[in-house]
Amino acid sequence: MADKKYIGAHVSASGGVENAPVNAAEIGATAFALFTKNQKQWFSKALTDENIENFKANCEKLGFGPDQILPHDSYLINLGHPEEDGLRKSRAAFLDEMKRAELLGIKLLNFHPGSHLKKITEDECLQKVAESINITLEKTKDVVAVIENTAGQGSNVGFCFEHLARIIELVDDKSRVGVCIDTCHSWAAGYDFGSAEGYEKVWKEFDQIVGFQYLKGIHLNDAKKELGSRVDRHAPIGQGFMGYDTFSRIMKDDRLNGIPIILETPDTEKWAEEIDWLKGEME
Ligand SMILES: [Zn+2]
Ligand SMILES: [Zn+2]
Repeated sequence: MADKKYIGAHVSASGGVENAPVNAAEIGATAFALFTKNQKQWFSKALTDENIENFKANCEKLGFGPDQILPHDSYLINLGHPEEDGLRKSRAAFLDEMKRAELLGIKLLNFHPGSHLKKITEDECLQKVAESINITLEKTKDVVAVIENTAGQGSNVGFCFEHLARIIELVDDKSRVGVCIDTCHSWAAGYDFGSAEGYEKVWKEFDQIVGFQYLKGIHLNDAKKELGSRVDRHAPIGQGFMGYDTFSRIMKDDRLNGIPIILETPDTEKWAEEIDWLKGEME
């Protein structure tokens, strides 16, 4: 069955969000990620009616449904910010991102949980992240907040499954919180996806601590650095420490059906080829 997995990449939305589905279709993708605004700025101009209509029309025409689109929020946002000012600014920007997704008819929003900046404890930071999610969910309708696991660089939280579970535990509306597992981040954080036994062990642990019902997306990246390096450097599929066998295993894993699987690999010219190879491994 060709359609049980949705595979794509984080494509460009330059010139308007409506271009993202077109760029995705061009590389043979059946899923895509995008930034709905400039990811390096706090605020961007509002989406126009034209942006919204064209985005929806292009998604429909090219066959991208709500389970196939996973936008990523701005890198500036820190929902676990230890200081009042930074937290307020982050929450306002996150709400804006959620509302943009809502306007576009998108059901998911992927974000990095946050950083404690060495000013509060990890758990205090996780509590702030959960509080930020609760505040935002109350002000929006149906977009699911999708927490991405991190590589554990600097003072980022979210590098272990326990952190993801802790945030979910503190979120009031469990139907609107989920997680995205980035394979490179997991590897960098010490989760050994690289062997057949390691692969099963990691997912078993994930299911016990977080639960597959919360898995809303995958970021598919090979890793340039060794296991547990805590360094976030993505490699093209098969070209890093995780290797082709790992990605072949992922493509054959039915637990990962029906959710967006998104390449964030560094060589954008290779995406069409990578998607083609991954589709071939599904059978
Ligand atoms: Zn990310
Ligand atoms: Zn990622």
